[in-house]
Amino acid sequence: MISSRIRIRLRVPLWQTRSRKLYMANREAARSLVHERIGHFMAHYGPRHGIVPGRVAIRNQRSRWGSCSRKGNLNFNYKILFLPAAARDYVIVHELCHLKEFNHGRRFWDLVAETVPDYKAIKKGMRERVG
Ligand SMILES: [Zn+2]
Repeated sequence: MISSRIRIRLRVPLWQTRSRKLYMANREAARSLVHERIGHFMAHYGPRHGIVPGRVAIRNQRSRWGSCSRKGNLNFNYKILFLPAAARDYVIVHELCHLKEFNHGRRFWDLVAETVPDYKAIKKGMRERVG
């Protein structure tokens, strides 16, 4: 009995299960937060610009806060959870605006500025790599 219990512990080290659980919990928290904020900003971008988000995925991305695919699917880094609220909103708005402007041109930034007018200051304050 004792030996089998030990074997199980050795097979799945405690630190590993703990960090996996923590990651899953953080990912779920990030998912509900992202959906809530998308809902908030879509009240603006939906009616005014006809923007319709595709699937939303929360991932453990190494080098990006968020990205947008040609098909209109959005990806967000689960670590968005730990950003200040203004930076978090900027990342979400940035990707939502790519659904209309798939570039970083003037019209794209004007679209971002409609809901995040101080996006330049926010960008400056964060180590950014948003798609
Ligand atoms: Zn971008």
